[in-house]
Amino acid sequence: MADWDKMRHVPRSYLTEVHKRVAPKRERIRPVIDLLAAEHQDAAIALRFRSPLELLVSVMLSAQTTDVNVNRVTTKLFEKYRRPEDYLAVTQEELERDIFATGFYRQKAKALRGTMQRLIEFHDGEVPTEFDELLKLPGVARKTANVVSAERGNAQGIVVDTHVRRLSQRMGLTRQEDPVKIERDLIRLVPRADWARFPHLMIWHGRRVCDARRPRCEECPLALDLCPSSRVRG
Ligand code: SF4
Repeated sequence: MADWDKMRHVPRSYLTEVHKRVAPKRERIRPVIDLLAAEHQDAAIALRFRSPLELLVSVMLSAQTTDVNVNRVTTKLFEKYRRPEDYLAVTQEELERDIFATGFYRQKAKALRGTMQRLIEFHDGEVPTEFDELLKLPGVARKTANVVSAERGNAQGIVVDTHVRRLSQRMGLTRQEDPVKIERDLIRLVPRADWARFPHLMIWHGRRVCDARRPRCEECPLALDLCPSSRVRG
């Protein structure tokens, strides 16, 4: 159950106290972003890539696995597969073996080959910059298209992963559960210039401080007056 869902069942006096302590989310979003940016100056995508094609492949492989695991696999993969044609020059089984360690290798190999086919047929072997064209690539959903666009300096939305979802709920930036609805709330709230870096800040803060099970509020720069879920009281 999300923190805000839990809060529906707590006494009204507690909610009044929380509302007195933190300002409305529109007033908090700027200082929240600035403090997280100061705290996590190294926050950036953890996937390693050297081109838009490698970026796209890495993000497609990252579904249901860690970035560290993807980097381990792509170190070798990108030496062997340099152009879209390379993914079609081998059998499906060979590609499956080469990406096996990322999990869900059958679906991922199929999606990669379908995507490469479309890149060759419709985009001269290049990764398109248009968001709608990215979404037409087999196996590329909104989250993947968002990551690729953001890393290319053309963010069209806000990436919502498990950390972004949990932290947005804890910080009272959304009451939604569904990632698409959470993204809609964040797009209305977060200034467009921050769309690309906002997920990185949330992800790194989620990993280092606002842990899923044991948030370390006593170490958090948002604890006193910027987070309604803070366990620290001023
Ligand atoms: S104050 Fe606590 S719950 Fe809120 S963002 Fe910081 S660590 Fe997470």
